[in-house]
Amino acid sequence: MSIYLDHAATTPLRQEALEAMLPYLGGEFGNPSSPHSYGRRARAALDEAHERIARAIGAGPREIVLTSGGTEAINLALKGAAWAGKGRGHRIVTSAVEHHAVLHALQHLEKFGFEIAELPVDRYGRVDPDHVAAAITERTTVVAIQLANNEVGTIQPVAAIGKVVREKGPKGCLFLVDAVAGAAWLPIDVEELGADMLALAGHKLDGPKGVGALYLKKGTHILAQLQGGNQERFRRAGTEDVAGAVGMGVAFELAVAERDATVKRVRKLRDRLRAAVLAGDGVELTGHPRDRLPNVLSVVVGDADGAAIVVKLDLAGIAGSVGSACTTGSTEPSHVLTAMGYPDDEARGSLRLSLGRSTTEAEIDAAIEIVPRILAESRVGAAVIAADPLGQAVAS
Ligand SMILES: *Cc1c(COP(=O)(O)O)cnc(C)c1O
Repeated sequence: MSIYLDHAATTPLRQEALEAMLPYLGGEFGNPSSPHSYGRRARAALDEAHERIARAIGAGPREIVLTSGGTEAINLALKGAAWAGKGRGHRIVTSAVEHHAVLHALQHLEKFGFEIAELPVDRYGRVDPDHVAAAITERTTVVAIQLANNEVGTIQPVAAIGKVVREKGPKGCLFLVDAVAGAAWLPIDVEELGADMLALAGHKLDGPKGVGALYLKKGTHILAQLQGGNQERFRRAGTEDVAGAVGMGVAFELAVAERDATVKRVRKLRDRLRAAVLAGDGVELTGHPRDRLPNVLSVVVGDADGAAIVVKLDLAGIAGSVGSACTTGSTEPSHVLTAMGYPDDEARGSLRLSLGRSTTEAEIDAAIEIVPRILAESRVGAAVIAADPLGQAVAS
């Protein structure tokens, strides 16, 4: 038995996207910049992918810049906007719970004299729009806040923050929304959010890995970070991944069309698992109890080690995560939980189970049998120290 409950790390590629991609991995190999028939067919597919991604967020096709993923879209937005705006100021406002793609890109900019204001969050991981308003100065050029948190699922008041940026921000101040974790689950309208830039990734919405997109509102000037050919209207040089773009476009379009039904079904399954998991001693929900992604269940287990729980779950056939896949292997507690006020010893016991479009009722039935037992066994002082099938005692 194998149950995948780590959709916040990545999702399986859906069949329709795979099938749409196959021709572009085979005979339709043309370079979309070539003027001959091979190139024109690739160009048509690429244009259609731009249109599909744009439609899914209420944008126009020329406002979409294809990238190699969420990380590149975020780096392009932050570095491109920071350098383009440096004549007006050096201050960038963000939150302490952003993805490392945001936080580490900003730490890099700090080395060049940019000033980063990292806003605190509440116990649920939420950014207060009033804090954003207070942090914006005449010298602020970018504000970057996520749509939803990938570790604990908390949804940010992004539309309210967009309003603050428009009202309080100096002329030219840009608002970047990292929508990578939320895009499969929440309706997105770039106008309503007040976003100037918005980052997306194919592999978080049942599309392929290695492709993403940056929405760049018409008239927004940023400095390209890759120099070369004139692809993506000079905003991102390099021959495009046509198959990847096609797959992402199809997956995103279907995700939007099916969203209401998927959300309803997955939330119900998640809530059943949540009730079973939270019934255990010493298990506490992390993130907002209501304003959270419908697929994410995140908890801290008292007196337990999240990494050890993930190993035990894996041996029992369940794929989960301590938090973000990107920090696996690190012994540091999650920066998200730390920012939410969890002391290191509590943050150590974190576990994230994230459902997806393909999660079944039978899988959740099985998980309800297995997960609470493993959490109970994992607590220090638990009567039983489980032996794994390889015969090694797992540290608990
Ligand atoms: C996954 C993720 C990213 C990074 O996207 P990649 O496509 O993996 O580079 C950025 N932000 C958030 C919120 C994410 O969940």
